[in-house]
Amino acid sequence: MQMRFATDLSPEEYVRQEAWKNAKLDNCPLHPKGGCGFCRNGTYKRRFPEGTKIARFYCPKGHKSFSLLPDCLASRLSGSLDEVEAVIVEVENSTSQEAAADRLRLDIELPGILRWMRHRVVLVRVALSILIELLPSLFAGCTPSISSFRSALCLEPILPELRGCASLYLHLLPPPLGFGPRPEKKKFKKNHFQHKTGSDPPV
Ligand SMILES: [Zn+2]
Repeated sequence: MQMRFATDLSPEEYVRQEAWKNAKLDNCPLHPKGGCGFCRNGTYKRRFPEGTKIARFYCPKGHKSFSLLPDCLASRLSGSLDEVEAVIVEVENSTSQEAAADRLRLDIELPGILRWMRHRVVLVRVALSILIELLPSLFAGCTPSISSFRSALCLEPILPELRGCASLYLHLLPPPLGFGPRPEKKKFKKNHFQHKTGSDPPV
């Protein structure tokens, strides 16, 4: 189970400082009163950024592992939330998905890039839509876009910051922002990823 490691470190600082060593869970999330043998249980590695490790804890009584993901890193996607945000901003600022794909200059074919982008855009838009409903005091009037959320908080990048704003609701938000389940494809595929000026690629 993923949990939040609240930190304002960048991915590079996190690796350089080996900050996973400072990630702490004082109590077992399943047994706050203790007595279950809850303990630190080493780390696991992530490929990007190189050298990244994630602190892990274990509850023997509940047979459950807990990993502490720093605010700068994407959940269930490789890399950082900043990188995810940069892709979505590129899409939001482009006249079409194809134009955004061209500017991202990834080393894969266009259909692959479009799928890769769409995956990120859909997941983040769903998370932002949920946040507008959950936190109207912060985001009432926002659209589920990075630009709108940046304006609301006068901050960028915004995604790592949203981990903090949404800390009570991360289990409800899909990755890469939250730690909840991915949205059902059928429900969100069409409604949540229609770029306002772009079109879907031919199938
Ligand atoms: Zn426990």
